[in-house]
Amino acid sequence: MVIGVFALQGDVREHVHALTASGASAIAVRRPSELAQVDGLVIPGGESTVMSRLSKVFGLLEPIRERIASGMPVYGSCAGMIMLASTVLDGRADQESFGGIDMTVRRNAFGRQVDSFETDLEFSGVEGDPVHAVFIRAPWVEGVAPDVEVLARVSGGPADGRIVAVRQGNLLATSFHPELTGDLRVHDLFVRMVQEADNQATEEAVR
Ligand code: GLN
Repeated sequence: MVIGVFALQGDVREHVHALTASGASAIAVRRPSELAQVDGLVIPGGESTVMSRLSKVFGLLEPIRERIASGMPVYGSCAGMIMLASTVLDGRADQESFGGIDMTVRRNAFGRQVDSFETDLEFSGVEGDPVHAVFIRAPWVEGVAPDVEVLARVSGGPADGRIVAVRQGNLLATSFHPELTGDLRVHDLFVRMVQEADNQATEEAVR
């Protein structure tokens, strides 16, 4: 089982480290032939407008959309969350996402004054202590379709109640950056999602 990290832009190295520490083999994905080798994909934090443009230039936009449609597990953090959103608010006019999660995400939603902040979150599906979440010019989720599971919301402060982690089927997204804190639990969750999808595919092939 190999997990790819979308590597045209963003904090690729941090995700490769976190995935490796979670027991997965991780490779950088810059071209369709590399995408074809992976069982799951992480889209890192970075800048979604640049990811959008480079995905088109490097021919990854449609192949990633196709893999998402055929059930490949994908985890997007921050800019990666924006790339998984069906609808993006405050984006550039020509910005395109891969889509996959039926949600409306607002870019840079927490306001220009609070470019970055940290807080603790209760995260459904992550056992133990609250998750310490680092937000950097982060998006929040403004609305979700009924079949999108809300995993975490901000508690307290001006953004109280805002959705910052979701899951829909094999797709997972967080507004924050677990790859920066050394807490592997969100990556562990994603690695389990990839393993489960892989096991299911094997069972179906055997049947
Ligand atoms: N503001 C960035 C964007 O719109 C996301 C920031 C991040 O990933 N840290 O893509």
